[in-house]
Amino acid sequence: RLISAQPVTNNESNQDRALRPKQLADYVGQPEVRDQMSIFIEAARKREEALDHTLIFGPPGLGKTTLANIIANEMGVDIKTTSGPVLEKAGDLAAMLTNLEPHDVLFIDEIHRLSPAIEEVLYPAMEDYQLDIMIGEGPAARSIKLDLPPFTLVGATTRAGLLTSPLRDRFGIVQRLEFYSVKDLTYIVRRSAEKLGMTIDEEGAAVVARRSRGTPRIANRLLRRVRDYAEVKCNGVVDQDAADKALNMLHVDQHGLDHMDRRLLLAMIEKFDGGPVGVDSLAAAISEERDTIEDVLEPYLIQQGFIMRTPRGRVVTNSAYLHFGLDLPDSD
Ligand code: ADP
Repeated sequence: RLISAQPVTNNESNQDRALRPKQLADYVGQPEVRDQMSIFIEAARKREEALDHTLIFGPPGLGKTTLANIIANEMGVDIKTTSGPVLEKAGDLAAMLTNLEPHDVLFIDEIHRLSPAIEEVLYPAMEDYQLDIMIGEGPAARSIKLDLPPFTLVGATTRAGLLTSPLRDRFGIVQRLEFYSVKDLTYIVRRSAEKLGMTIDEEGAAVVARRSRGTPRIANRLLRRVRDYAEVKCNGVVDQDAADKALNMLHVDQHGLDHMDRRLLLAMIEKFDGGPVGVDSLAAAISEERDTIEDVLEPYLIQQGFIMRTPRGRVVTNSAYLHFGLDLPDSD
């Protein structure tokens, strides 16, 4: 998917990395997160302690990995990165933990996807900086305990509710990332354009920002496509008109909704009379995974007021009908 908030290719994650801010001061938006983190980091540094374990949650592309890297940078320590699905064996985690230097950051992306066995290893590591693992099997098996250096676990997940409560309870700091305002995204787009060596005016940047689903990764991705368009069609200069035309060509609409968003909303309207409909029925109707609907599509559509969640399921709002130029359903 063009607009999916996940990095699509390796090359793209490299480009993401190039545009990634390195200091808290360059982390645009999320003012509460920034203010709190700057205090927590400064306090930990003054006490010469590791920062408390930090959980960051929010939809893909909002800056969780970026924030984890900034935390390490501001603490003046190294960061080791892994992810829930990659850590298959307790030994994999043990190897990472025993390789940490004091106060280092261990970043686990998609931490909700850790296996229960690995979570068990993580609890004493987080709580007492102790590694408690079994070696060998059967009667010869024995458990060994190792001391670990004090470290900071930074976990990222799309929804806090996905974590088991014992894991969630072991994070001293919990930060929730919000969708970015058009103003903040405009600023991000202008700064990325500068780094990419392209010319874009304020109105052009605002068009890209408005159509980026509140998400910096999407803003940067659309910006690169707009650059292609402008280089071929208008001498490389991006103004409002060029940005509009390029994004229309990509079928990203005025609200930043793409093909998948529209399919979801139209399925709710046409197949389920606007709802209420359960997420599994919706997933079947549009042949999309339930997780994608809950993590990627729905949060933005809810934030924009196109969908509401009710105890009986999801319903579309009048704004969704109006968005497609449809008549409002009879209220009865
Ligand atoms: P996540 O881990 O939540 O999926 P990332 O941290 O990888 O998201 O962010 C994706 C890209 O968006 C980054 O490479 C960076 O260029 C940009 N980005 C994210 N957050 C910010 C921010 N607060 N300010 C500026 N750019 C950001």
